[in-house]
Order: sequence, then C-alpha cells, then structure tokens
Amino acid sequence: MTAAPQPNIVLINCDDLGYGDLGCYGSPVNRTAALDQMAAEGVRFTDFYMASPVCSPSRAAMLTGSYPTRISFGGQASGGLGGVLFPGWSVGLNPDEITIARLLRDRGYATQLIGKWHCGDQPAFLPTNHGFDRYYGIPYSNDMGRQVDPPGFTFEDMKQILADIGCTEPVLRPPLPLVLDDEVIEAQPDQAALTERYLEHAVRFLREHRDRPFFLYFAHMYVHLPIYVQERFKAASANGDYGAAVACVDWATAVILAELARLGLDENTVVVFTSDNGALAPERGGSGSNRPLRESKGTTWEGGQRVPCIMRWPGTIEPGQVCSEMTTALDFLPTFASWAGAEPPTDRLTDGRHLGASIGLDGPHLDPDRAFFFIGGPSIEAVRVGRWKLHVRKRGAEMLELYDLDRDPGETTDVATRHPAVVADLQARIEEGRRDLGDETLGIEGTGVRPIGKVDDPVPLTEFDPDHPYFMAEYDLPHRG
Ligand code: MG
Repeated sequence: MTAAPQPNIVLINCDDLGYGDLGCYGSPVNRTAALDQMAAEGVRFTDFYMASPVCSPSRAAMLTGSYPTRISFGGQASGGLGGVLFPGWSVGLNPDEITIARLLRDRGYATQLIGKWHCGDQPAFLPTNHGFDRYYGIPYSNDMGRQVDPPGFTFEDMKQILADIGCTEPVLRPPLPLVLDDEVIEAQPDQAALTERYLEHAVRFLREHRDRPFFLYFAHMYVHLPIYVQERFKAASANGDYGAAVACVDWATAVILAELARLGLDENTVVVFTSDNGALAPERGGSGSNRPLRESKGTTWEGGQRVPCIMRWPGTIEPGQVCSEMTTALDFLPTFASWAGAEPPTDRLTDGRHLGASIGLDGPHLDPDRAFFFIGGPSIEAVRVGRWKLHVRKRGAEMLELYDLDRDPGETTDVATRHPAVVADLQARIEEGRRDLGDETLGIEGTGVRPIGKVDDPVPLTEFDPDHPYFMAEYDLPHRG
C-alpha cells in the first residue's frame, strides 16, 4: 500500500523496558491493555533490535540511523564507559550529525522531544541543536541526580569503580535537571509526577500542531531504576513498582492515542512504540523481563538488544500483523524520511534500511542476507544474518558461539561445530564490519567512523545548593541501575 505523504510521527521510546514486559509479548503480570490494543490495530515486530544494549549509544544510533561506533559512541573517545554519558561531560552527539528530527524539520515538520535525551548535556549537544524545535525533559538518566547512597557504598566508591573500568571524564553528581528547551527550570523534580507533566506537554504539542506535520519523540523515564510512581498505579499493580511503571507507560500511550483520535489525526499519524534496550532482569537485580531471551541490558545477548516494537497507522498499516523479519532502530531514519518525503543523508554512511515492505507498504524488500552487528562498548561482539547469530566477544574476552535464533531465540545451544560454513561466513562479515566501524580492543581504526562531538571546559547543568527552594531533597531510593 502507498503511504499518504507526510504523516505525523509519534515515536514513544521507553527506558530499559524488556522484550517480555508487555502483555502482547507474553508478560503474565504487567497490565498493558492500551499497548496490546495498539499491537492488534497495527504491527508487532518480533525480531526488532536496538543498536546498543545501553542508553546513550542506543538513542544516538536510533536518531542518526548509524551504528554507535560509526558516530564514536562506545570507546575512549566517548568517556570510556561503553558510550554511556554522565552529567557535565565534554562529549555528546556531534552537532554535525543529521538526526531524524533535523531531516523532518527540514521538510516542514514541527519537532518536539519530551523526556530523556542522553546524547550530551552541554549546550551544543542539547536537542534544540539537533533538529528539535522544543525540548522538555531530563537530559540524562533519572539515576544520575542526587540520591542517597546504599548502605556501605558511598559516591566515592562509585567514582573508584568507574575509574577502574576506564572512565576518562569527571564523575559528578549534580542535582537532576528538568530542562525546557535549553534552560534548566527545576532541580530534582518529583519523579512520580514527571510522566503526567510530560503528557501535559505532549497533548499541548499535538493540539497546537494539528494542522501541520509533526514529529513527537516521547522518551519515557520509565522503567529505568529508581522507580518512583504514583500510588494509583501501585495499587493496581500485580508486579510491584515495576509493574506500576509499565502500567503508567501504558496509560500515557492511551492518552496520546485518545488525543490523536479526538483531533481527527488517527489516520494521518504513525505511532511507534519501543524501548532503548533490554530490561534489567531479576538475575541482575532488576524486576524486568526479557523472556524468553537470554540475559539483560548491557549485554549483546538477545535480552540486551531485542526489544518490543509496535507500529500503528490506521488505514495504512494493515491491522493485526506480526513482522518477524529482522528489523532495527537504525531503520527508522530512512523509513521516516521516506514517508516525510525527505532524502536520507548522502554525504555520509548510515546503516538503516527502509522497512516499509516488511509491514506491507511500498518500498524495497529488506535484503535477507543483511547483517546486523551487536556492538558492546567499542567492539563488534556478535552479528546476526538471517536465522544465525555468531558471538565472537564478550566484555573484552574472545569466544565463538553460534545460535539458530529461529529454533533457539533464548540462545541456549551453541551449534558452531555443526555449521562451520555458517561460522566462517559470519566471521568474514564481522571482519568487514571491523574494517568499517573499527574495534578499539583490537586496535583497528574504522574507515567509516565519524567523530563524537566535544567541547572545551564543560560545566554541569546544575549546581548542588540544598538551600535553594526548588531543590526538594535527595532522592531516597539508592542507585542500583
Ligand atoms: Mg536504557
């Protein structure tokens, strides 16, 4: 089917929501009626990947359609912590990068980011310098504010741990900022109230732009730890605070969908729902679920990067579809660009493909032989081509394990010795990827890598002043995530 030109695009991105956390992906405990309904009215992707198992590289990659290491998120250049950025760092998404927001804005879209950014907190890196007309939200993770220390563990201990694993930037703990456009308007906001405040801005944005194309990127704080959530969601949860936060995300989706319907924009709006990386599962101290996948956020096993993805576009996307082709967040940029009538960048390498044909729309079919690289920190750790996934590295250590994801999505049985030709083919793909994207562990400089953004003399967005009336208190849930 041919898509009508210039649909509105609403991209909802959760933080650390796992593959098994929604009813429509098999959760027996979380209440997600609105998202289950959204999947029934659109398409649910079973084999959709984020390009990184952690926040900053995942988001930067999604917005630029480029692997994290292509834009220098992951190695020493990005601070040495696998590409995750902390407050007041000198690095961030290079202002020369072309984001989805910039492409769409150049085609006449109104653009707004509400929620978590996490691609750099210095003025040059903020969303308003990356194609967003407006910004309202927290510039990095909700556990990067002032929090009480767990018993027997001080902030000094944490600094030492980060230094030991190669952090090259200062480790600071300024109060969590709430930012409007490029100004801090509050410090340490009440996190339990934040999603409702986000929604207020979202509804206003939808109403104000009902007569022109818009791009709303709604980046939830949930379900990243610590979880502060309103009592009404807790009271109804069968899965503690975690289930309450998932229910709040579901409720927020319901509000956005209801507002689109009320404005008569349903058929002219694509709504996409996903998550920046896998959940922190119980075996890692979290409460999320990546079932039936292996492992958690932070790893290049399936549970770290295969996440829920739902797309709904009434009248254009046939309802009730399940897409099991391998698709990725890198595909959003060329896909959204095509729908908006924009050209993806031609002056640089990007890594996504138009996924329209996978969901019954116009566009070239995805190459079944295409490779997807799983990047942990500065290295390619695994590759998937079709049903096969080959792991060659984990946290610096070499390995060689092959999994048949069609038969074994949980990566339980290594079949490398049974399929030497497949292993050889995938190893060659990884070598190709390393030449292009580099590999800091192996000392390979990539030929297709662009620099991360860097500023001199960075300063944190906030300063600790316990006497300022807008500083409520230190968050009382200790850092765990
Ligand atoms: Mg995350």
